[in-house]
Amino acid sequence: MHDAYRRLLAHVNTVHDLGKAAAVLRWDRETHMPKAGDPARIEQLTTLRRLIHERSTSDAYGDLIEAGAAAVADTDDGADGLAADLVRVLRYDFDRARRLPEDFVVRMAETSARARTVWESARAEADFARFRPWLERLVDLQREMAERYGHAGEPYDALLEGYEQGATTAAVRAVFDAVKRETVPLVQAIAERPGAVDDAVLRQPFPVDGQQAFARHIASQVGYDFERGHLGTVVHPFATSFGRDDVRITTRWYPDDLRPALFGTLHEAGHGIYEQNTHPALARTPLAGGASSGIHESQSRMVENLVGRSRPFWRAHFPALQRHFPAQLGACDAERFYRAVNKVQPSLIRVEADELTYNLHIVLRFELEQAMLGGDLAVGDLPAAWNDGLRNLLGVVPPSDREGVLQDVHWSGPSFGYFPTYALGNLYAAQLMEAARAQSPAVDADLEAGQTGGLLAWLHDQVHRHGRRLPPAELVQRATGAPLGHTAFVRYARAKFADLYGLHA
Ligand code: ZN
Repeated sequence: MHDAYRRLLAHVNTVHDLGKAAAVLRWDRETHMPKAGDPARIEQLTTLRRLIHERSTSDAYGDLIEAGAAAVADTDDGADGLAADLVRVLRYDFDRARRLPEDFVVRMAETSARARTVWESARAEADFARFRPWLERLVDLQREMAERYGHAGEPYDALLEGYEQGATTAAVRAVFDAVKRETVPLVQAIAERPGAVDDAVLRQPFPVDGQQAFARHIASQVGYDFERGHLGTVVHPFATSFGRDDVRITTRWYPDDLRPALFGTLHEAGHGIYEQNTHPALARTPLAGGASSGIHESQSRMVENLVGRSRPFWRAHFPALQRHFPAQLGACDAERFYRAVNKVQPSLIRVEADELTYNLHIVLRFELEQAMLGGDLAVGDLPAAWNDGLRNLLGVVPPSDREGVLQDVHWSGPSFGYFPTYALGNLYAAQLMEAARAQSPAVDADLEAGQTGGLLAWLHDQVHRHGRRLPPAELVQRATGAPLGHTAFVRYARAKFADLYGLHA
């Protein structure tokens, strides 16, 4: 290995380690830290963030990258192009980070921290007027951020890029419009058969220790490795990785509803499986993460929905669940349980939405973010636009802004451009699953038996091991032979819900 490349790698490893130290502090903050520790913890995290920012944007680092790049170009021992991929990603991240000056980053962080506190109280009291001036400031900052990053006419592109590299607003809009066109009539047809699916069995007292035992069981059944993992308890579930051999997932337990823990755990296990299976050679570099937020989400949705809400999955695993809860589920059977966990019900809250209506919650947010950013929608008119949009898409209207426009934390982030990746995850997942089934007979054979071995082998080859080496569009094209589209999801959803609700597909 050339000295210049070795020096670059040492620098990159150091910055990566600082980032992982911050991740441990954040994980601990959410899971174990006493609330009184928060001020000190924020100082520690701010210190780490400053160190990381300095080392990620300095002129000296820029020189290291270029010297390393020259060394890589000179040698052809680049072991399958890994060094070239790393240099490409480092250049990309460096260039993007340098577009935001230090004082802007600080202004954004301070405004967002204070907006977050205001949002919490505004939501608690359903008082949008309190949050409004802060959201106005945040929209201005997002607009400034988009201009600083630069774009070719559509400012939203610059923000979307931060979560889904290479995706354009126009392309996402086209796919989402198609999803809307295909999904809304399906949801309406289902609404005409309200009694077809009954989910009462899920809402009973379920002792939390039983939920925890089954969550661990089912997470390991789908392929999450507890030898290199850990399941913790939090208010807002997430997955985080400190390295491929230490990938933590978290969930929450509702004593009278099985769904949040069950499907939340499967969801985070999907994220965790991705991180546990990136190639070891990518360790301690930015290549060790996922390809994008949308691709990461595809792995969690795959496990949560395409696997975890499938009929064969519950045929195989319902008996074990029943053994944990004989009093609650003794009279139920796998088919009834499968139907219950797939009930479609237009609702107000995104995080509780079913598989079919979920994307429509995202389409609404995607459209409103663009309208605010482009100046077509004043922040003061946002609650009304939200309620109109939800009525048009799902036929429901929130009784107050707490269940409406104030429900999500993201806009205090401000994180414009992040929401679409949730729905992109659903679409990627359906497209990847269709390709996996077509390419590998072991995928279907295993899934029919409630096992994921065949699917994980295919995903490992096509998705997991690459980490961030492939941009999302290239990953999807190589794995499925086509760019991202809506058709695989629509085929999947039509077939599944026509069967469940007795519709003509
Ligand atoms: Zn997720």
